[in-house]
Amino acid sequence: MEKLIYLNGEFLTAAEAKVSVFDHGVLYGDGIFEGIRAYHGRVFKLTEHLTRLYESAKTIMLNIGIPMKEMEEIVTGTLRENNLSDAYIRLVVTRGIGDLGLDPNNCSNPTIFCIADQIKLYSTELYENGLDVKTVAIRRTNPDSLSPRVKSLNYMNNILAKIEAEQARVTEAIMLTQEGYVVEGTADNIFIVRKNVLLTPPLSAGCLEGVTRNAVISVAQQLGIEVREELFNRHDVYNAQECFLTGTAAELIPVIKVDGRVVGQGLPGEIFKTLLKGFRELTLVDGTPINQ
Ligand code: PMP
Repeated sequence: MEKLIYLNGEFLTAAEAKVSVFDHGVLYGDGIFEGIRAYHGRVFKLTEHLTRLYESAKTIMLNIGIPMKEMEEIVTGTLRENNLSDAYIRLVVTRGIGDLGLDPNNCSNPTIFCIADQIKLYSTELYENGLDVKTVAIRRTNPDSLSPRVKSLNYMNNILAKIEAEQARVTEAIMLTQEGYVVEGTADNIFIVRKNVLLTPPLSAGCLEGVTRNAVISVAQQLGIEVREELFNRHDVYNAQECFLTGTAAELIPVIKVDGRVVGQGLPGEIFKTLLKGFRELTLVDGTPINQ
């Protein structure tokens, strides 16, 4: 069956689903997006993803033009059209077609598209054995310039970090704030375990408010694991018992080496494994049904 993509009110094939070269999403990265997952016929944390989308829109003063309920229908409708119950969904809203100037007021209507597909960021081997990562020289965008809480179409900061990691022949990059605190991966939040406490940087450090991050925090709290949103630096990561990344696409993935230092035992940790189990259980029950 050919994949069908939602684009501005229509379901089109990949060959037909085209965006204008005058779209400001293409010309300026002026737009926002969400990466969402469906598990077992339910869209995991759909309300949380849509809330973040509409909050990003508000901050960049983009009028999406349709209510959240209709956006929900676009996401579930795309999955139904493609007969998918487990999938990765990319929902994008751009400023729309304008002229060559950057003024968003010259863009008439936002462009909305939704793709449902599969995604596999890392090999099974890496999920089982953990990632070798590095802290990169390029710093995460300063929140005073552009809030990393806006999930914008401009990922150049993250892409440059990814390139730096690849040049150093490691799989992932850990990004730091201007002050040198650990903040997040290129498309993932970061957690460490120190003295059996789960730590993750606070949103004020300048990371995305990850949906998976929030889910992991609540799973940990339900399991009685102490969680703190707290700034930490590279020394804390090198000397952590455990380290792992979270994201919709990556889910939960262990980190076993950072800048050449082995973290903990150099194996996926016990708290990581407990949280992964709890997260998997949550994906079985949580979510908006695709077929209502
Ligand atoms: N940080 C960044 C920069 C990201 O792009 C992502 C992926 N959306 C995340 C963190 C993880 O967020 P989520 O769990 O909502 O996918």
